[in-house]
Amino acid sequence: MRTLVTGGAGFIGSHLCDRLIERGDDVICLDNFFTGSKQNVKHLFNHPAFELIRHDITESILLEVDQIYHFACPASPVHYQYNPVKTTKTSVMGTINMLGMAKRVHARMLLASTSEVYGDPNVHPQTEDYWGHVNPIGIRSCYDEGKRVAETLMMDYYRQSQVDIKIIRIFNTYGPRMAVNDGRVVTNFIVQALRNEDITIFGDGSQTRSFQYIDDLLSGVIKMMHTKNFIGPVNIGNPNEFTILELAETIIKLTASKSRIIHLPLPQDDPTQRQPDISLAKEKLGWNPTILLEEGLKKTIRYFEDKLSNGA
Ligand code: NAD
Ligand code: UDP
Repeated sequence: MRTLVTGGAGFIGSHLCDRLIERGDDVICLDNFFTGSKQNVKHLFNHPAFELIRHDITESILLEVDQIYHFACPASPVHYQYNPVKTTKTSVMGTINMLGMAKRVHARMLLASTSEVYGDPNVHPQTEDYWGHVNPIGIRSCYDEGKRVAETLMMDYYRQSQVDIKIIRIFNTYGPRMAVNDGRVVTNFIVQALRNEDITIFGDGSQTRSFQYIDDLLSGVIKMMHTKNFIGPVNIGNPNEFTILELAETIIKLTASKSRIIHLPLPQDDPTQRQPDISLAKEKLGWNPTILLEEGLKKTIRYFEDKLSNGA
């Protein structure tokens, strides 16, 4: 099996490369290193089944592969808002380029979509048949609407050209190999706690998220790629929901930190609640997340302790 992972040097993509190599696939990792890094895949450089290509998916590329895991796109609000036009281009032109490749070589393609397609949801928990509540002109829309168009493109290549597609909607996922400057909440709080700096809660901290550990996500992703007669979209996330204040308190406890909590303004369009309904994933994939928040946080904290003590 020759497999392409776009965004393969990023947080999720690099773990996916590891899993696929372990399974015996030949893996091509494609990345422009905007938020990913060679460091994340350095341990694979000498593996005969691994190949790394520096490439920007907004430009076309000719490769021959059997499967495409399409993960290239900045995912942290800080990074996707840095150059929002580029974020939309990555989702739209990048997905067209990958779908064009899938069509040409008859590859199966899986899109890493997001819970952000539900926006600030009026339906709770979110089921896949909910169409969402997204501001099309706000500061998050380059990412949210970009992914919504990416889903549209997947469905239209499927209906129009019978491309073999899969769509997953990933809910907040965390774990080792997130960048110290990632900017998402789990990394910010862990790094702040380990440095005994103020923990920055945006707003009053009553907004909720449901956090999934990387290993649970990966097993869902790989099951979805290999399932028959089911294209999705399917939610892949951990339904255990926490307020951001609870997350901060848990991280302070687990790190025995001296940090204090401070409150900063809530960014525009920040969703107030988010929790996946995973009935469909259970039914179609036999998938269920198993890693509790504290367990996953402990592993992630250990990773950042090492990274910070090595001067990151
Ligand atoms: P990440 O920022 O660590 O990884 C994204 C990777 O894509 C990076 O390696 C980056 O360099 C690469 N990339 C960005 N633009 C590119 C381009 N134009 N051409 C080539 N490579 C490009 O983020 P992540 O958390 O690993 O997210 C990976 C994917 O999963 C993204 O598509 C994201 O939308 C999706 N996702 C992640 C989460 C999460 O909680 N982590 C939730 C929902 C969806
Ligand atoms: N958040 C926070 N402090 C931070 C970073 C994020 O309070 O330092 C909040 C943010 O406002 C949001 C939640 O944590 O309500 C999750 O933010 P993240 O950027 O991780 O992901 P997303 O909003 O895309 O789910």
